[in-house]
Amino acid sequence: MIKASIITIGDELLIGQTIDTNSAWIATELNKIGIRIHRRVAVGDVWEEIWDALNEESKNVNVIIITGGLGPTSDDITKPLLCKYFNGSLVIDPLALENVKHIFEKLLNRPMLERNLKQAEVPDTCKVIQNKRGTAPGMIFQKENVFFFSMPGVPHEMKGMMQDDVIPFLHQKFTLSPVLHRTLLTAGIGESYLAELLIDFERELPNSIKMAYLPSYGMVKVRLSSQGGEENVILVETQFKKLKTLVEAYLVTDEDKSIPEVISQLYWDRKQTLAVAESCTGGYISHLITMIPGSSSFFMGGVVSYANEMKMDALGVPAETIQSFGAVSLQTVEKMAEGVRNLANSDYGLATSGIMGPGGATDQKPVGYVCVAVSSTKGTFSKIFQFRFDRQRNIELSALNALEFLRKNMG
Ligand code: AMP
Ligand code: MG
Repeated sequence: MIKASIITIGDELLIGQTIDTNSAWIATELNKIGIRIHRRVAVGDVWEEIWDALNEESKNVNVIIITGGLGPTSDDITKPLLCKYFNGSLVIDPLALENVKHIFEKLLNRPMLERNLKQAEVPDTCKVIQNKRGTAPGMIFQKENVFFFSMPGVPHEMKGMMQDDVIPFLHQKFTLSPVLHRTLLTAGIGESYLAELLIDFERELPNSIKMAYLPSYGMVKVRLSSQGGEENVILVETQFKKLKTLVEAYLVTDEDKSIPEVISQLYWDRKQTLAVAESCTGGYISHLITMIPGSSSFFMGGVVSYANEMKMDALGVPAETIQSFGAVSLQTVEKMAEGVRNLANSDYGLATSGIMGPGGATDQKPVGYVCVAVSSTKGTFSKIFQFRFDRQRNIELSALNALEFLRKNMG
């Protein structure tokens, strides 16, 4: 099997100033095409450490993907290092030069500096990957049986090069058999209970199929994976069907989709509309929905009704409801959901109100106490959730569980 290591370079990655999203993304893409990830290594902008990482990783793999350290400033040393490592000398690449010039003259409209010109230099021992999204070109080297790919750290530039050049190159050089994944999402059952439920299924699973539990935000994804090949496709499908039946009562979707994606699909299929009234989630539900391309066809909008006045004035929640039951109560969120549905003239209204912490708790309503309501022609339904985390996580949990409550009440 073809194996790869990913080396991400940059001091900022080591101190946590930049989160290394590149290696996670690259790993996902390599995994899709059937390349096994041996290791993911992050190193600083330090000559010896990069050199050692290249030596070490090339002992074990066929492919090494490197990102970072290709900028025009002195802290970026990846290019001179690779030049030395692969016994080359720097030469101007005419296409890369044209690209740098074009970016400065046409797009940025400012004079090019000497250091920008240097960005068009590449070792004469590499194959150049042109950068259609920035100035620094990528490079491909080969040493014995190992291919090395060096790309900029800027995520969208790296992704472009991976998709346009690196992945096609790998397909050309290796015979790859993609990994098969089938994933489903469950809600309303904890990871341990799910594992109990699936104990026999897991025991009887053929050796060629791996099973994984991926819990997040109070929901659990279950994934079956296997190497490619016609017989494995059928095997995975058969087992996946069995799995689906076993978890039927908790099944949200049998595709590898998020709750906002599932909700969007439901609205598209039914040609219905949604509006939201958010107190404790502060617009986060609206954000999750509007991140889905095409959500404008069903999402009317939302009201971030944080203050009681907004709940009353914008949504028509009666003052008595808030006075008698409190802003965080089933009665109030029900009125919010009905109010926003009226305001937007939508098929559904979804509302949240809760105590996100660290302050604001009472004996009856501790931090993480959240009320959610859904209003539609079928009536208004509401539910209390109790989360137990910090503010950020409570907000995320509230939003996703509110959307799951909405899905359940769409029947
Ligand atoms: P560089 O190619 O080292 O000049 O990196 C350019 C930019 O990309 C910097 O702002 C980095 O913070 C960002 N970057 C570098 N490496 C990564 C990585 N592994 N994941 C996400 N962003 C990165
Ligand atoms: Mg850098």
